Amino acid sequence: MIDIQDVSKIFQMGHVEVAALQGVSLSVQQGEMLSIMGPSGSGKSTMMNILGCLDVATSGRYVLEGEDVGRMNDNQLAEIRHSKIGFVFQTYNLLPRASALANVEMPLMYGNGKNRRARAMEALERVGLANRAKHHPAELSGGEQQRVGIARALVKNPSIMLADEPTGNLDSKSSDEIMAVFQHLNRDEGLTVLMVTHELDIAQHTNRIVSFRDGRVISDEPVTSPMNAGEHLIPMGTDA
Ligand code: ADP
Ligand code: MG
Repeated sequence: MIDIQDVSKIFQMGHVEVAALQGVSLSVQQGEMLSIMGPSGSGKSTMMNILGCLDVATSGRYVLEGEDVGRMNDNQLAEIRHSKIGFVFQTYNLLPRASALANVEMPLMYGNGKNRRARAMEALERVGLANRAKHHPAELSGGEQQRVGIARALVKNPSIMLADEPTGNLDSKSSDEIMAVFQHLNRDEGLTVLMVTHELDIAQHTNRIVSFRDGRVISDEPVTSPMNAGEHLIPMGTDA
């Protein structure tokens, strides 16, 4: 579904050129769940932005579900972004004065207004947060806020979920909760998930680890037996 061939990205900083990506190739099949790892500055976010059609490569080829993204104009790129891609951010990017439900509804504001509330509620159900619909972000834990962020990314039913360090601000219990949600969406609903993480134990919940260094892919390995997330979601004390 994703076919990246020999993609480079050069940023012009005054007189200096920064090569954020240098000849990256990457194929991802529908239904995969993979991690992108690598040190700070290695090009991970640049890769995610290109994958998500927020930015375009300087050279190389990007074919997404059979469509040549490199040949698209800004309107066509926006259309792909809205119809196929869901984004999850490290900092959640929720509106503090809006309820969880209203936050999830936000991406539906521009289209026709039908069933917006019901669709947002359904997205909250898919991340296990229907019982928090009326809460404001400040009334939710970090993990719950990020689940709202995931529900917002899901509400338009994208085929690909892109998450740039989605657990970067979370403790290990909340990170596990988030990985349980991604595993559920991937395994039970067939969503393709690509995520960036610094942490190997987070990456080991996915099925494949692609490592970047200096704008290049230095390794691309399957995870032979991915860890199951979610054990900590079992309410405390049930084993007593
Ligand atoms: P990572 O996400 O792995 O930390 P990035 O993709 O953000 O890395 O950055 C890769 C390189 O590209 C870095 O050297 C960074 O400074 C540079 N870079 C990223 N975005 C821009 C930009 N908009 N303008 C100039 N340089 C950028
Ligand atoms: Mg980054």
